[in-house]
Amino acid sequence: MQCSKCRRDAVIFQRYSGLHLCEQHFNRDFEAKAKRAIREHRWIRSGDTVAVALSGGKDSSAVLFFLHRLLHERRDVRLMAITVDEGIGGYRDPDQARAIADRIGVPWVTASFREEYGVTLDEIVGRKGTGLSCSYCGVLRRALMNRVAREEGVTKFAYGFNLDDEAQSVLMNVLRGDPYRLTRPAREVAGLVPRIKPFMYIPEREVALYAFLHVEGFDLAGCPYAVGALRRDVRGLLDDYTYHHPATKYSLVNLGETLRNPERPQEEGIRVCERCGEPCGKVCRVCQVLDEVRGL
Ligand code: SF4
Repeated sequence: MQCSKCRRDAVIFQRYSGLHLCEQHFNRDFEAKAKRAIREHRWIRSGDTVAVALSGGKDSSAVLFFLHRLLHERRDVRLMAITVDEGIGGYRDPDQARAIADRIGVPWVTASFREEYGVTLDEIVGRKGTGLSCSYCGVLRRALMNRVAREEGVTKFAYGFNLDDEAQSVLMNVLRGDPYRLTRPAREVAGLVPRIKPFMYIPEREVALYAFLHVEGFDLAGCPYAVGALRRDVRGLLDDYTYHHPATKYSLVNLGETLRNPERPQEEGIRVCERCGEPCGKVCRVCQVLDEVRGL
């Protein structure tokens, strides 16, 4: 297949846009979307120190490469990478993350559950079982990341969350019937470094392709404790549905952003028609229909 914008060979077909794109046009399209997300949310400002939460997987490696390409000439913004070693055998080798950061040319620091808490996640799972592994891991990792970030003067954490992750989270909150999470606005909390998500409007397969094109040696292994049955089911459901309705993930992400926006426009309540006195919406439909059929 040829690129829809030039004669070169296409490397990807975007079902939602109907475009085949060559490597050059794919990169341009990808980076434009990520820059737009940063611009619209005003995520990066002069004086920021941005730390990528670098696991060594495709998403975080890709976001590190992209941010380095975007920021390396700016003297007013600093970029670094932080890797937390939870102590999960065969997963997340910190040396692999360090090698990625070194190759891209970004300063890297690490911290571990073993040094900070005196226990690894493998040991926690050995004592408590796998049922709550993600809950323990998430709480401990977030706290450790924040502590390291404060020491390093980090003002923003960049995560590699993509469109699929974001859409799945919105749908999961709907399926759980969780209005609090659906409508909770993103706000700054004292002591917590704010998160930014430059790839939140980019599908996972495009993030994977971007990583393959630009980053060497990222990790493809999944966490052995990733048992999240709901997320797995939602991912399958959403992927099947999106095959026939390609804009669905974008719609869900837009819905999530709208619900979290405290200044979203509110629907007008029921009013009374000024002419006939019956309850109606903005304009009384009965009066409209009568005007139409009477030819007024
Ligand atoms: Fe931690 Fe769960 Fe992620 Fe594994 S899948 S790294 S246990 S949060």
